[in-house]
Amino acid sequence: MPEGHTIHRLARQLNASLATKPVQASSPQGRFADGAERLDGLTLLGAEAWGKYLFCEFDSGDVLHVHLGLIGKFRSRKAPVPDPVGQVRLRLQNEAIAWDLSGPTRCEIISPSEQEQISSRLGADPLRSDADVAAAQEKFSQSKRAVGALVLDQSVIAGIGNVYRAELLFLCAIHPARQARSLSEDEFALLWSETVRLLRIGERMGRIVTTDPAEIGATRSRMKSEERLYAYHRDVCKRCGSGIEVLKIGGRPIWYCPSCQPS
Ligand SMILES: [Zn+2]
Repeated sequence: MPEGHTIHRLARQLNASLATKPVQASSPQGRFADGAERLDGLTLLGAEAWGKYLFCEFDSGDVLHVHLGLIGKFRSRKAPVPDPVGQVRLRLQNEAIAWDLSGPTRCEIISPSEQEQISSRLGADPLRSDADVAAAQEKFSQSKRAVGALVLDQSVIAGIGNVYRAELLFLCAIHPARQARSLSEDEFALLWSETVRLLRIGERMGRIVTTDPAEIGATRSRMKSEERLYAYHRDVCKRCGSGIEVLKIGGRPIWYCPSCQPS
């Protein structure tokens, strides 16, 4: 499931491989034929992420807005570029590389002011230098909702999905059902700094790894998949061995350790 780290990594890779040059755009599947025709031959000025939203700005002023949702993928194919596989909504390519977008919940052309409207509804993005941490903290300090719900609320913090949510609250020893406003300043500060740290690791690695290499006894890139998380979707806590429990908070299940995250 793509979380904020995926989208920031994508933006970085799109900038490195496609930006500042004209791109060919097509919709092999046909569902974005008009949009692709409009983008074809334009120069990509740059791609940027805000939370789970991707914006690609073209020299016509058009902005391609993509949201991958739960199952969307934006994959690269190096030259010689093979034919599209499966339901490719949009292919962006130059002579060296193609990027194939499939299964997005959003793929549309919007204006810069529409982009601003979308961004203005989003909360602080831990991977953006302009993240408004104070605004996020203010929302926490006033909310009676469960901290597990607020962390997932994209209008408060943008970019955290269900995996990072469980792991962040685990690492901060915060029970997910606690009221958000019960967090101390230190607890919020730790939650924010851990969010930034973990999403940066995820952006760099292209996968979610939250465990400490010293604790696991392996570098992050050598960890087996079952060594990369402490609590999410586990039966027992990776740290203390207690049974992991599950609550439904914010409409989705959250896994937590009752010993490491006392209420
Ligand atoms: Zn534990």
